[in-house]
Amino acid sequence: MRVNGTLINYYFHCKRQCWLHGNRINLEDNSEEVKIGKAIHEVKSQNSTNSEISIENIKIDKLTKDYLVEVKKSDADVEAAKWQLLLYLKILKEKGIERTGKLEFVEKNKSKNKTLIVNLTEDNSRELDIIISKIELLLEELEVPDIINEPKCKKCAYYEYCYI
Ligand code: SF4
Repeated sequence: MRVNGTLINYYFHCKRQCWLHGNRINLEDNSEEVKIGKAIHEVKSQNSTNSEISIENIKIDKLTKDYLVEVKKSDADVEAAKWQLLLYLKILKEKGIERTGKLEFVEKNKSKNKTLIVNLTEDNSRELDIIISKIELLLEELEVPDIINEPKCKKCAYYEYCYI
């Protein structure tokens, strides 16, 4: 499987999650968290004319004159979201489209959304290439990585797979 935004996100969230998804063991459809995420994307796309654009193996939430916008349901894993967005910025740049990245965190019970601006630089672009290589190596491993046993497991789509 070619490294896409979901795999990058999972790599930072949990190596086991990344391996499971990359090896096509998918349980996302059963997850309440994923359903909430999809619902947010649907509401956002109804309010926008530039939403959900597919380029190669990535899906972009919104592309405006200045920004590539990625919408997240919480800011629980900013690092994962940031690298996912950097991958999208890099793929767009390779297509001749240069934008500033914007992460929008749409949180329940909060009147104001938090946003984070992300720029693709030479340094983080090089780092991204290294991360992609590491993910490719991880996915080739024969053994699934160990369970991480962290609080975030309770919100993970693979919770039942890992613990029950
Ligand atoms: S439940 Fe925990 S260990 Fe299992 S894939 Fe999810 S985050 Fe990783």
